[in-house]
Amino acid sequence: MDHDRNKALLLELQRAAGTGNDRCADCGEPDPEWASYKLGIFICLNCSGIHRNLPGISKVKSLRLDFWESSLIEFMKNHGNLWAKAKYEAKVPPYYYIPRACDCLVLKQQWIRAKYEREEFLATRDCQDPCSAGSREGCLWKLGKGRRQFQKRQFLLSAKEGVMKYYSKVEKIGHIHGLQITYITDGQTRNLFVYHESGKEIVDWFNAIRAARYHYLRTTFPSVPEPELIPKITRNFVKEGYMEKTGPKHKEAFKVRWFCLDSQERNLMYFKNPLDAFAQGQVYIGRRSEGYEVRGDLPQGVWVKKRKPAITLVTPMREFVFMCENDKRQKEWIDALNGVITQL
Ligand code: ZN
Repeated sequence: MDHDRNKALLLELQRAAGTGNDRCADCGEPDPEWASYKLGIFICLNCSGIHRNLPGISKVKSLRLDFWESSLIEFMKNHGNLWAKAKYEAKVPPYYYIPRACDCLVLKQQWIRAKYEREEFLATRDCQDPCSAGSREGCLWKLGKGRRQFQKRQFLLSAKEGVMKYYSKVEKIGHIHGLQITYITDGQTRNLFVYHESGKEIVDWFNAIRAARYHYLRTTFPSVPEPELIPKITRNFVKEGYMEKTGPKHKEAFKVRWFCLDSQERNLMYFKNPLDAFAQGQVYIGRRSEGYEVRGDLPQGVWVKKRKPAITLVTPMREFVFMCENDKRQKEWIDALNGVITQL
């Protein structure tokens, strides 16, 4: 039967070496089971949902469940993921964030629309210089001081001056495309939570901030090659979550705190609440050879009332004691902390 033969041909094409078809063209998820027969690309289930909402530029079918005419198989053969990458991703700026399968929907949506709908990265497009890309003005919803309400603020980002300012004007929040900006000011880590009604607007801000940071790194470290600068554009929280911590004497009451582990800065920060602007404290995580160690029990001689999985983080200055909700969380934190301790 033509139907079965075509399906077999299609699955063979998805696995064919050197075509890039064995990973989603948009997020890199392995073994994509869908395809856009208008663009000629193989995509995953999640990305196919985004394509389905863009009928003007894309049409999707399931590799296994839908009927495929011979002419469409021929079209897929003549195009494919590598071909599409060469065309639609010819000029992706170095600071532009390319989402992965695990990233949030709005990032993937805007990446797909930027590529195929707005055709922002075609070879014929002029590359934006990071300085102009890192300058932006507009309104965003910012989480207010009370941490309860979002307020509309005028934001100004200038890569040239290296500033981000915002001005106050109160209005109510209505929508859900959020962005967390974390930066250091006067040695303290500050979080900024902003929202916008438009997904495009929030992703454009995200990339404008990356462009500004890229511009800053380029001018500050002119001799460092680009591949080394790119990972430094955004900070990388390898693990976030609640743990309980006690004080330096290990006799103080355990208090619930929100922890963020930044592998790049080798920094474990803790906040009273996840949405707090400033960290309450931070612990530098050095290397094993410098005397740093993490253990899944309490320090010798320390006794606690609560029976919860404990973690002892040994630093040359003091031992930090944390308690986790359960064994799974304890293991995750130990693995994450060990990852930083053993990294060079
Ligand atoms: Zn995908």
